[in-house]
Amino acid sequence: MNFFEQGPVGPEVKQLVLPAAVRRQIAAEARRALPEECCGLLLGHAEGEQAVALACAASPNLAPDRLTGFEIDPALLLAAQRRARAKGDAVLGHYHSHPHGPAAPSGTDRARAWTPGHVWVICAPGGADWSYSAHLAVEKKGRIVLQPLPIIDC
Ligand SMILES: [Zn+2]
Repeated sequence: MNFFEQGPVGPEVKQLVLPAAVRRQIAAEARRALPEECCGLLLGHAEGEQAVALACAASPNLAPDRLTGFEIDPALLLAAQRRARAKGDAVLGHYHSHPHGPAAPSGTDRARAWTPGHVWVICAPGGADWSYSAHLAVEKKGRIVLQPLPIIDC
């Protein structure tokens, strides 16, 4: 049973196009939020085997403990869904940061991936720049799992 709206990214999607401008904006927010996690929405569309992120929208982090968790503002999500739909785009999913790394889903993240069809982007400090991972929430044998989604730079 699924109480949540299915996301717009189907299981046929094999790559996430994440432009440098969007990555820079996510990294800037992640730095500003330190030592806490940042979070926000990824906006764009899915075409064939690619999900294309065109923009991101920062959210206040409403988690009770922002050092180790994130919670996107539901009002921001609703407004973004309405605006995206009007433009023929979609809320592809969301991003958040792991200030202490790694750029990979935590156990908590995996337990909270309850909506199929959403992209998860996680960034963490690493190297000269921040590092990123992307996953797609897909249904497998009645469970929602986060499946790695290769990122295409552009
Ligand atoms: Zn996380």
